[in-house]
Amino acid sequence: MSQTSTVETHAFQAETRQVLQLMIHSLYSNKEIFLRELISNASDALDRLRFAAIQDDAVNEDAGDLRIEIEIDEEAGTLTVRDNGIGMNRDHVMDNIGTIAKSGTKAFLDRLSGDQKTDAQLIGQFGVGFYSAFIVADKVTLLSRRVGDSAEEGVRWESDGGGEYSIEATDRESHGTEVILHLKEAEKEFLSKWAIRSLISRYSDHIGFPIRMPKEDEEGEEKGTGWEEVNQASALWSLPKSEISDEEYQSFYKYLTHDLDDAQCWAHNKVEGSQSYTTLLYVPKTAPMDLMLQRDERTGLRLYVNRVFIMDAAQALLPHYLRFIRGVVDSNDLPLNISRELLQENELVGKIRSAVIRRSLDLIGKLAKDDAEQYAKFWQQFGAVIKEGVAEDFANRERIAPLLRFASTRDEGGEASVDLASYKERMPQGQDAIYYITAENHQAASHSPHLEVFRKNGIEVLLMSDRVDEWMMAYFTEFDGTPFKSVAKGDIELGALKSAGKKDAEKEDGDKAEESAESLDAALLEKVRESLGERVSEVRSSQRLTESASCLVLGEQEMALHLQRLLEQAGQSVPGSRPVLELNAGHPLVEMLQSEEEAGRFKDLSLVLYEQALLSEGGSLTDPAAFVRRVNALVLRQAETT
Ligand code: ADP
Repeated sequence: MSQTSTVETHAFQAETRQVLQLMIHSLYSNKEIFLRELISNASDALDRLRFAAIQDDAVNEDAGDLRIEIEIDEEAGTLTVRDNGIGMNRDHVMDNIGTIAKSGTKAFLDRLSGDQKTDAQLIGQFGVGFYSAFIVADKVTLLSRRVGDSAEEGVRWESDGGGEYSIEATDRESHGTEVILHLKEAEKEFLSKWAIRSLISRYSDHIGFPIRMPKEDEEGEEKGTGWEEVNQASALWSLPKSEISDEEYQSFYKYLTHDLDDAQCWAHNKVEGSQSYTTLLYVPKTAPMDLMLQRDERTGLRLYVNRVFIMDAAQALLPHYLRFIRGVVDSNDLPLNISRELLQENELVGKIRSAVIRRSLDLIGKLAKDDAEQYAKFWQQFGAVIKEGVAEDFANRERIAPLLRFASTRDEGGEASVDLASYKERMPQGQDAIYYITAENHQAASHSPHLEVFRKNGIEVLLMSDRVDEWMMAYFTEFDGTPFKSVAKGDIELGALKSAGKKDAEKEDGDKAEESAESLDAALLEKVRESLGERVSEVRSSQRLTESASCLVLGEQEMALHLQRLLEQAGQSVPGSRPVLELNAGHPLVEMLQSEEEAGRFKDLSLVLYEQALLSEGGSLTDPAAFVRRVNALVLRQAETT
């Protein structure tokens, strides 16, 4: 006993301290969020107690009358948030309150820009919860006792938000947690009952537990005798839609997600019948910073059974590509004690999951239809994630495909604004494929020599430069009956299309390349191939090129070169595929090759043509210095002859 009753002082981790300081600074203009964060922690603690009570009769006895209390002491200058939830023991407090144990804290700090607005958003997503108390308090005292522990096992934690905190054992009458904020001199506005009440109704009206404050003393009554509830305490999703305002939906979203920003849109549905369940799904405006990480720690879809919070069930209810969806699912027909494992196998859960996917896709589809501008913003944030769905979710591919947006040769600005249906509508007669190119970045895609003949003939090509694109296209063979075709792979047979889509102004100078397209003779091509050895599988005359001298082409089934390079860099072995080198018969360098008789120079020129093609593909040369020597020799020779 003597050991635990002494006060111990600990230093915060360096990173915790840094986050604290930054947060106080960046979130100052949103300072009132501290109340929402503390109430949200209290309500989580109540949720967890209720869940524990289902499994443990001993806990069950302590799980009655769950509530949150808020008290103001004007004289002491304190604001207290108290819950009778699951509580914490000493170890819990040390682990949860004394440190920011979250992975990625360092990465998070590195991303801060110094701009208050964007930093505040990042911090909101990071969920600094409890620490937000220090925005308004210069000292915070936390008292807690874990449910099931004895009265002497209470803990008292205190800090001024500087470098240290103290922790000691204390007696506590009952389980639960109490957070006492000693408000800063400048933040005494939060000692006003009226101010606190209005914050509660703004942020926490529809959390599922009562929040109460001491009743105003009425005449004749003994002082401080009663409490009154100050929130609705009705779980928002259980109300009829018609009774919920947009503001209420938004504030509930913020309570759920800790997002400082509003949600982009939401869908609220009740299914009644032999099995009934309710879903309330939100699409956020901004992507959390770790959205693209592949680790499977999805949170954000809370599963309730009859309004009792069971667990975060995003894993079971959302596919990976919808991991940004947030919300609540409540079912009356699932067993209260359902485990994580059983969740995966439960038939009703499977049904709910399908419904959640369909509703989410419909919600996104509706946004696309109703508001192109907002949808463009959405796409910028979440497009790359949605694309994963094409590969992952075959059953819903037809729902996903219309959501996709791409950059195209039609708009050189690089905006991903083209949808597949409009692309199809614009296709000239005779075009029987949706053409696309994938590359490392937008520049590389839009400058690729593979596009030349398409540009010349006014045929639109989708420009894809997201990392997932090449992978997605491996699964995406057709849209609405029209196949996809990479302009960098296989044969390009434009045939009749050559003049069909062509703009009149370009007709004339296009002819030159067409005429000479087939004119390189087989012996020459073979000689080039020999000069290049193992680098290429074949050398042929190009149908694609009108301006560049050469390009590299892959087989239909082969992985794009930029992706091959990426995998190689990541240390993976790539099935060795050799590209085809195509030469533009109309290009002066190729003409020069035809008349070159000296063997060494022929070989050098062949190599330069190959190396150029590789470079314009975004590739790197194994011997760049040799390339420079060869090009210099060429330039100098040219200078001599003129
Ligand atoms: P977050 O809520 O995002 O996890 P916080 O800093 O707000 O971050 O809280 C850290 C942890 O401290 C919580 O996950 C929870 O385990 C614990 N905690 C905070 N407040 C309470 C409370 N009122 N009752 C029980 N545990 C709490």
